[in-house]
Amino acid sequence: MPDKKESPDLKNLSFSDSVSYYFDKASPFTGAPQGLLDQIKTCNSIYKMNFPVKYGNEVRVIEAYRVQHSHHRMPTKGGIRYSLQVDQDEVMALAALMTYKCALVDVPFGGAKGGIKISPRQTSPEILENITRRYTTELVKKNFIGPGIDVPAPDYGTGEREMAWILDTYVTLNPGEINGYGCVTGKPISQNGIHGRTEATGRGVVYALNEICSYKDDMKDLGLETGLEGKRVIVQGLGNVGYHTARIITQYGAKVIAIAEADGAVYDENGLDIDHLYKYRQEKKSVKGYTKGAAKVIADSASALELECDILIPAALEKQITEKNASRIKAKIVAEAANGPVTPAAENILLKKGVMIIPDIYVNAGGVTVSYFEWLKNLSHVRFGRMQKRWEEKHQTDFIKLIEELTGKTVPKARIESLIHGADEIDLVNSGLEDTMIEAYRDIREFKKRRKSEIDIRTAAFAVSINKIKNSYYAMGIFP
Ligand code: NAD
Repeated sequence: MPDKKESPDLKNLSFSDSVSYYFDKASPFTGAPQGLLDQIKTCNSIYKMNFPVKYGNEVRVIEAYRVQHSHHRMPTKGGIRYSLQVDQDEVMALAALMTYKCALVDVPFGGAKGGIKISPRQTSPEILENITRRYTTELVKKNFIGPGIDVPAPDYGTGEREMAWILDTYVTLNPGEINGYGCVTGKPISQNGIHGRTEATGRGVVYALNEICSYKDDMKDLGLETGLEGKRVIVQGLGNVGYHTARIITQYGAKVIAIAEADGAVYDENGLDIDHLYKYRQEKKSVKGYTKGAAKVIADSASALELECDILIPAALEKQITEKNASRIKAKIVAEAANGPVTPAAENILLKKGVMIIPDIYVNAGGVTVSYFEWLKNLSHVRFGRMQKRWEEKHQTDFIKLIEELTGKTVPKARIESLIHGADEIDLVNSGLEDTMIEAYRDIREFKKRRKSEIDIRTAAFAVSINKIKNSYYAMGIFP
């Protein structure tokens, strides 16, 4: 870990050291005593496991992790990643980011993360299922999963399917546990999931950018107009987060001019048809050969990040913008939809160039926010909106009738339909998500503005988050 007093070699920091570096940079703005800062920063529990799994006639030993970074709030919460890059340092970094993220957006969980070192694309669904079920069993054996203990969710390389296997394994091993469905989030709707979770991270990124781009002064400093309308956007990664971000941001009038995937990038100055490209990649398992409209494929995918644009959204993996390519980045805003895509060395270069960096702990917090709503739904055993939807509609109808009686005028039918519509689960989820993203950005911006000396957005976000965790420890009475 870098010592606060020494200046660390930014080019050689591991992922978890980078997170600690950002933490240390923000700590002086929190007024928290050193002992408390040390407690907040450290990982509370690290569980490394190795278990055997059959691959046809052979047996392979699988390496996997679950890290609970902070127990200041329980349960802990965080995704599970399937990738060959998984190691202890990566899972520790991701778990720490979860703690700061949850605190920042007022989601009452400690941070956690899990990882299994496998390639999901090169593993058959049957073997993936065996691995997922065995991993869940290991977590149950050590009491590392449960609705009040630790609640996983999807991350890189995992989705609804894996969450359903985790749920099924957990409830099988814990028969009769009334809140068992709350042991994991990101589940299919039919398995007590929630509407809007799949796209929540991407939708949250767009709500955040919509808020960020609404401040005239901030946009003027960047030489941009307010609003998302007409903004030229580049997205890295067409997986869960990248696809939904790209799809939803175009609904706000932005133009996605390039998508960079692992095997190549696709570029069209007029704006890409995101759904068409997504379906093409699903079918062909590659973006290569994509030609719709004026689209061109760029073989060197990473070079697409350096194209002229207003907003660059890395939504794939960590360490994508480093000291090697940062000086060539032309975007005015970099929004970290992925966790840790900009390294500290790159951040310094970008900040000197005047680039606005929107940190991961804020901008990709939409996923955990809606996971929290799913967990609440599971504990309350009722769908959001079920109790009040019809009552709201009747109440609104009566109100419109009264207006018509009093004015002698008739409200047009089309208006009545939109006015009386009672909230469905998806309306409430999206409304709660939008409010969360807006409020959190206002907190960060306010904090940044109140400092006498200039601080960057990441430092402000970390400081706001650390302050909330600090207050939580004070309320527990652990620190004087
Ligand atoms: P995913 O597996 O659904 O998609 C990742 C995509 O990135 C894949 O399509 C993959 O081919 C692509 N990719 C991999 N390496 C690449 C490269 N070098 N260049 C371009 N593309 C590349 O994963 P996801 O769930 O979308 O997660 C992406 C990032 O977002 C991760 O950092 C994850 O931690 C973060 N995140 C995810 C969630 C969530 O709800 N899923 C929430 C918060 C943060």
